[in-house]
Amino acid sequence: MTDLSDLPLRDDLRGKEPYGAPQLDVPYALNTNENPYPPSEALVKALGDAVMDVAGTLNRYPDRDAVALRADLAAFLDADTPGAGLTGDRVWAANGSNEIIQQILQAFGGPGRTALGFEPSYSMHPIITAVSGTRWINAARDEDFGLEPARAVAAVAEHRPDVVFLTSPNNPTGTSLPLETIEAVLDAAPGMVVIDEAYAEFRRSGTPSALTLLDGRPRLIVTRTMSKAFAMAGTRLGYLAADPAVIDALLLVRLPYHLSAVTQAVARTALAHGGELLGTVEALRRERDGIVAWLRGEGLTVADSDANFVLFGHFPDRRRVWEGLLERGVLIREVGPPEWLRVSVGTPDEMAAFRTALKESL
Ligand code: PMP
Repeated sequence: MTDLSDLPLRDDLRGKEPYGAPQLDVPYALNTNENPYPPSEALVKALGDAVMDVAGTLNRYPDRDAVALRADLAAFLDADTPGAGLTGDRVWAANGSNEIIQQILQAFGGPGRTALGFEPSYSMHPIITAVSGTRWINAARDEDFGLEPARAVAAVAEHRPDVVFLTSPNNPTGTSLPLETIEAVLDAAPGMVVIDEAYAEFRRSGTPSALTLLDGRPRLIVTRTMSKAFAMAGTRLGYLAADPAVIDALLLVRLPYHLSAVTQAVARTALAHGGELLGTVEALRRERDGIVAWLRGEGLTVADSDANFVLFGHFPDRRRVWEGLLERGVLIREVGPPEWLRVSVGTPDEMAAFRTALKESL
């Protein structure tokens, strides 16, 4: 039997474990921040029709630059953030925002370069950074998981990274960043500044998106995804908005035809049904605020959340609580600072099961 250690693997990958939340077959999967509501019957039919339409052309490569899809995404962003003034040439798409992040690091990171993030945050940022040969620098968020401009600027001024990641709302804490922090980092950073807005659609009304800062700031990149609020995690469609010059840079590293014709057709159909898909956001926000209040009522510490998940603690032995929930069919995520757990916001039934299981597990 050949073992991985027998192969001439890159030295920096030796001993690493593959990333990934457990994919278990459980009644209540509340561990990967998906939208719990599946597409309606009408949308399922529309998606099927869209795939039928492209099926007869699959002998050909897809549109390499996904022009029509990018125009649709720009129109969606313009509606989400009025005044952003986005057009297709300022939007780029890939297979999930993870691939977007990978392309950014391939273009702007690499050997001899650094990327900095403020932890606790999304754990794929350091992993994709390392795999791209870029050195990761871990700076810390504030005690309450926020990020004061002065602390952020001090870290950026000290390390002068080539790429800075700011996640807002942040995963796994749910914390949104004020625009002042983002502007301060943009002013201080010598390189690219990536605002990961995977959960932006769940933010409280009145919290502005970093999209509003794009004009005149060619080093700013705002990333989004259809995996979360848009309820299309299985489609694998992430995107970004930035200056067209940034997209010129990404064209140098993207694989030709990276977005399949099926992906493009499905994503465009989902965007055309955006009203229906995003119609669940308000209910999920209410459910989120309800679970935050309930957890606090149980005497637990809970981070304020602008996303579709909630970080709560403190558990000296969080593994025991996580296992207690799993035994009752509820899968949540053991992630973030050592004494905390994260639960994704599900349907009212799913959250009722979570509440019962947690009470029994404590
Ligand atoms: N950014 C953040 C902050 C995330 O939490 C996630 C998914 N967990 C992603 C990016 C990647 O999502 P996707 O590749 O599905 O777009």
